[in-house]
Amino acid sequence: KLSERLKKVSSFLPEGAHFADIGSDHAYLPCYVCLRDQKAKAVAGEVNIGPFNSAKSTVEAYQLSNRIDVRLGNGLEVLGDDTDIKQVVIAGMGGSLIKTILDEGKSKLSSVQRIIAQPNVDERNVRRWLLKEGFIVIDETIMEENGHRYEIIVADKKGTDELIDPYTKKQLERQLLFGPILLKNKTGIFHEKWQSEYKKLSRIINQMKEASNVDNEKIERFEKELLWIKEELQ
Ligand code: SAM
Repeated sequence: KLSERLKKVSSFLPEGAHFADIGSDHAYLPCYVCLRDQKAKAVAGEVNIGPFNSAKSTVEAYQLSNRIDVRLGNGLEVLGDDTDIKQVVIAGMGGSLIKTILDEGKSKLSSVQRIIAQPNVDERNVRRWLLKEGFIVIDETIMEENGHRYEIIVADKKGTDELIDPYTKKQLERQLLFGPILLKNKTGIFHEKWQSEYKKLSRIINQMKEASNVDNEKIERFEKELLWIKEELQ
C-alpha cells in the first residue's frame, strides 16, 4: 500500500528510529516503519483535522497507538518539549512550505540529528535552509513514480562525526539548484527532469520578455539558470 516514494523516504531512517513525520496525512509512513521495526517510535503531526483523524484511524487499525503518537498542530510545534526525537521527516509538500516549517520550528530541533525532506518543488529552498542551519546533505535521491519525479534530501546535523560538506564555494548556487549529490550522479531521471525544466524555463523567459512590464533583472537571473541547465545536460 505504501508508495515507492515513501518507502524510499523510510529507507533513510536508522533502525530503532525515534522520529517525527510532519504532515503525516494518513500516517502511512510511520505505520509502515513501526510495523517493520519493533523498536521504532514516532510522532505523526498534522495541522488539518481531516488528515489528523485519518492518521489516528490508521494507527489504531494497526494497533500502533503505543508507539505512534498522533498530534494535531502546526509544523514542529507538535513536538512540544520532547527532547528525544532524533529524526524529522517532512514529505510531499512544496520546498517553500518545508523551509517555513523548519524555520518556524527551529527551536524544536535541538535533539534532531537527521532531517529527511521530500519537497515536490522548490528543492533549492530546503537546501539553502539546511546549509544555513548547519545540516550537512549526506544523501540525495531523484526518482519517478506514476509519472511524477521526486527528490529526497537527507541531511545530518554537523557535530562530532566528520561529515563531508558536499558544497564547493565556486559551484554553490548551481549545487543548490540541482542538488550537490544529484549533480554528481546525474542519473537518467535527473536528465529527464532538467530537460523538462529547460523547456519550462525557456517558455517563461519568452513570456517575460513579451510582458508589458519587463523585469530585466529576473530575466537575467533565469537566463543564467537556463545556461547552467544547458551546460549540465551536455
Ligand atoms: N507526508 C505525506 C506524504 O508524503 O505522502 C502527506 C503529504 S500531503 C500532500 C501534505 C500534508 O501536510 C497534508 O496532510 C497537510 O494537511 C499537511 N500539512 C500542511 N502544512 C502543514 C503544517 N504546517 N504542519 C503540519 N502538517 C501540514
